[in-house]
Amino acid sequence: MKILTVIGTRPEAIKMAPLIRLLNQTPEFEHKLCSTGQHRQMLAQVMDFFEIEADFDLDIMQPGQDLTDITCRILQGMRQVLADFQPDWVLVHGDTTTCLAATLAAFYAGIKVGHVEAGLRTGNLQAPFPEEANRLLVDRLATAYFAPTQRNVDNLLKEGVSADRIVQTGNTVIDALLWATNKVRGFSLKVPKAVQEAFTLDRRVLLVTGHRRENFGEGFEQITEAIRVLATTYPELAIVYPVHLNPNVQQPVQARLTEIPNVYLTAPFEYPDFIFAMKHSWLILTDSGGVQEEAPSLGKPVLVMRDTTERPEAVEAGTVQLVGAHRERIVAAVQQMWQNHLATVPVNPYGDGFASQRIVSFLSQAPSFL
Ligand code: UDP
Repeated sequence: MKILTVIGTRPEAIKMAPLIRLLNQTPEFEHKLCSTGQHRQMLAQVMDFFEIEADFDLDIMQPGQDLTDITCRILQGMRQVLADFQPDWVLVHGDTTTCLAATLAAFYAGIKVGHVEAGLRTGNLQAPFPEEANRLLVDRLATAYFAPTQRNVDNLLKEGVSADRIVQTGNTVIDALLWATNKVRGFSLKVPKAVQEAFTLDRRVLLVTGHRRENFGEGFEQITEAIRVLATTYPELAIVYPVHLNPNVQQPVQARLTEIPNVYLTAPFEYPDFIFAMKHSWLILTDSGGVQEEAPSLGKPVLVMRDTTERPEAVEAGTVQLVGAHRERIVAAVQQMWQNHLATVPVNPYGDGFASQRIVSFLSQAPSFL
């Protein structure tokens, strides 16, 4: 059986890496990897760490690219890849533009699509934009659904997907996390000395990440203002912020947060460095989806700078709190944690580290009607 996996961004590479490794090791599959290069630089680091290589590289990234550019280039590039390799299945991940465009390309070519991380929903088509729309569209076109949690399975059933096409797998992000934590013993030399020292001194570290399109503009103004207020209110706090490369993130961060002594701005951490940073943080402030799923395994509380989440399981478990991209709410939530800090227990509602194996088992026994 021929399988083509498609990835394009950092989180897709991280979450698909354990599955890609397993598919490569399973003799009954002829597996090939296609990278769209939607996030060229951050993707390459992850692929090196997990020792995976692309067989096809669409190399679509261009300065100033928008969603239309990305979609058009992927559709055109994938047409040739699918014609050359002729896979039985195309595997896509999550909710990115790469995911949607690769699904559409496979659908046009009459090839089955397996959606990894299927069934996540916020219930609001505009939030997050464009991710919620991408998920819904991919789940209309997919053939098999690899849903991380029972809630994700239920969402798909409610939308009329038949049960025999859905497998509850857990999230592959936990497979990746377990693989990485076994390898990581400390920061790499790529992390600046000052940033490393922020963790080694006897201080609480607030680790910040943000990249979401829905927060561009007003959201990032509020977020950066909140960080500035926190840095001055708590001079003993170290705020470590690996800043996403998107200019819509870089611009407000550089404008408001440079030259504050306890704010450590740095380039995006490579994945193993980020895992190590999470492990040694006091609290995480983020708008990331993957970080909400990883942090519970490390026993770290998370404040999510969004008004909604498609990952409510950790909110219910009490390890994640929604604070929006609002200055006052972010500051108030950190202040509350500062006073009444409760360590969270490392229990993870998102997976047990065997999601990739469940996906591979399904593919090797996929019912003939699919
Ligand atoms: N991550 C990383 N370096 C960083 C920040 C995050 O490697 O500086 C990892 C993190 O461990 C998680 C993934 O990137 O696995 C999350 O990516 P992102 O927040 O960009 O996307 P999302 O998960 O929201 O789709």
